[in-house]
Formats: sequence, structure tokens, C-alpha cells
Amino acid sequence: AKVLVTGANGYLAVWIVKKYFEAGYSVRGTVRSLSKSAFLKEQFAEYGERFELVVVEDITKDGAFDEAVKGVDAIAHTASPFHYNAIEPNELIIPAVQGTTSILNSALKHGTSVKRIVLTSSVAAIREVAPTPRDFDETNWNNAAVATVESKGSAAGPAMIYLASKTLAERAAWEFVAAHKAELKWDLVAINPPFIFGPSLSPAQTANDINTSQKEIYDTLTGARTGAQLRGEGNWVHVSIAADAHVRATHAAAAGGERIIVRSGYFFHQDFLDAAAELGIPNVPRGEPYSTGNLPRAANLVTTKAEDLLGLKATATLKDVVEESVKDFKARGYPG
Ligand code: NDP
Repeated sequence: AKVLVTGANGYLAVWIVKKYFEAGYSVRGTVRSLSKSAFLKEQFAEYGERFELVVVEDITKDGAFDEAVKGVDAIAHTASPFHYNAIEPNELIIPAVQGTTSILNSALKHGTSVKRIVLTSSVAAIREVAPTPRDFDETNWNNAAVATVESKGSAAGPAMIYLASKTLAERAAWEFVAAHKAELKWDLVAINPPFIFGPSLSPAQTANDINTSQKEIYDTLTGARTGAQLRGEGNWVHVSIAADAHVRATHAAAAGGERIIVRSGYFFHQDFLDAAAELGIPNVPRGEPYSTGNLPRAANLVTTKAEDLLGLKATATLKDVVEESVKDFKARGYPG
């Protein structure tokens, strides 16, 4: 079977491509720039003609994916901006939402062999910033982020804008499916990962090229987070497991029409420092060692769907992922 992976050069997407090859798929990847993505051809040289790269310069254009969807059996749509630098909401919301509706439209019109579309959504589309600690699962939607961005605009801030962009993109996808139900020959699965941690498969560049989620660990270990920031928290998943979830969601019949959280555990930023200390990583601040054990978890994720529908156990430890991350960071000039 052949699968189309959008944004194939991204941190998560390179892992997804790797997992597709290992599962026997052929892959057509879309990228914005071939020169920036030349490493992919080298990285996956052993798969020869099973790997194709095509350029889609502007994913928001109507018909952008009309050619790319032809002849593939499935699509994994990962391309979407993930950064905390947006000034205007539309910087993120337009590519997130229109990139999604654009590929669904192309699949509807030209994807005659497509059976399944896997959308890389996010826990951003599920967990709202809750005033009191509570649990979340796939029945929840982060409507609060959308409302905040609608009322405050740019003043909502870049993080809230990102949360809204992912909520609006996933919402648009399910609305598209509902609106075209009678015509569709494929179904949709949304994968909702929290912060994704673990090594990048892209060639090492500089610390500036570390993607937004890996930076949570990088910034903490390099001392950019202190005091109350070390009690900043979230859920996380190992990058190889998040990628595996996409591959399983491509062929697991029971996953059709579902949103699925894939999650390895909970973290406070202090936990990275404790793990680094245990691993004997030099030059790492200590913060307030082992101070997080009894802190309430503001937004714990509770789900068995990844295991029930995908047969996926998202087991991974924070200590291991910190160790793997530091190895990766060192190649990028990490000071430790
Ligand atoms: P990266 O920044 O590493 O990759 C993002 C990918 O999307 C790149 O291929 C990038 O292309 C492409 N992209 C970004 N903006 C645009 C745009 N305006 N038009 C076209 N393509 C664009 O991020 P991640 O790998 O971390 O994220 C991949 C996906 O996973 C995203 O959908 C993100 O929301 C989602 N996600 C990520 C999580 C995480 O913790 N990392 C958690 C949950 C979900 P280019 O290189 O050309 O900019």
C-alpha cells in the first residue's frame, strides 16, 4: 500500500515515514522545499523507489494536493505550523485549517483509491487551560482556546493561538466528513498527541532548529526555566510511539471515525532536571529536586482508546527520553 505524508520533513513526520517503511508501506512525501528536504532521500535511501518526494509549495491553496493524492491508499496529514512566535492568529489558523480542508477536498475529488485519512491533531484540540485540576479524554474539545482567540485576537498570545489553530483544524476536518458523508470512500482518524519528546531523525543543525516540543526539555536543562516555571507541566508521548500510532491508525479498521489520544505520561519541568541528575548529565541545574511528587496534575489525560483500538501501549519513561534527547542535543551544540 502507498501512503501520502504531508510535511514529510517535520520532526514527527520523519518518524512517521520511517515507521511506514518498516510496516511495508511505500511513501509519497510532500514538502515545501526540496533543497531543505534533501536529507530525506539519503535517510531513506534503502527504500529506493518505495520513496517519492513531491513539492506542495502552498498547502492552503484550493487544489494544492490534487496531484499528490492520486494513486495513494491512505493519507497522513501532519503539515501544520507548531511554534510560539505567531503575532496574528491567522498566521497559524489559516495554514492549519485550510491545509486540512484543502487535502480533504483533494482526497474527495481525486483520491479515488484513498481508504483512510489520518490527521495529526493534538491534545491542544482537547485540553483547555483548566482553572482547577481535572481529567480530559477524547470527548473534550478545547473550545475555550477558540473563544479566547476570537475575543482577544493577537492579545491571546502565541500559545493560545496555536491551541486554537489545532482545535479549529480538527473541527473543520470532522465537519468536512459530516458534510460529505454520502460521497466519501474514505474515513478519518484523528491522532491527538500531547507534547512529543524524543530524538529527531533530521540531520543535526543548531539549537535554533530544535522543534517546539523538544525545546521544553532543552530549555529546562540549559537553565532557561527557573522557579515557578519548573512547576510548569503537561502530558507527553515518545516520538516513536506517536509515529507508530499514525501507522496503526492507517490500517486498524476499528479506528475509523475516532479521535485517539496517545500518551506516555505526565511531566513537570522539574522532572527533567531530576532525570538528568540521575543520569549524571553534567552542568544541569538542580532546581528543587523531587518537589513534584504531590503536586496536582492540572490536566491529566485519561484514555484507553490507543490500546483498545490500535493495540498500542505507549510505554516510555521520562528518564529514557531525557537521555535520548541529550544525545540528540549534543550534536546540535548542547553545552553539557
Ligand atoms: P515541525 O515544525 O517539526 O514540522 C512541521 C511540519 O509542517 C513541517 O514539515 C513544516 O514544513 C510544515 N508546515 C509548517 N507550517 C506550514 C505551512 N504554513 N505550510 C505548509 N507546511 C507547513 O513540527 P512537529 O513535527 O512537531 O509537528 C508536526 C505535526 O504534529 C503538527 O501538525 C503539530 O501540530 C502536531 N503535533 C505536534 C506535537 C509536538 O509536541 N511536536 C504535539 C501534538 C501535535 P516546513 O519545514 O517547510 O516549515
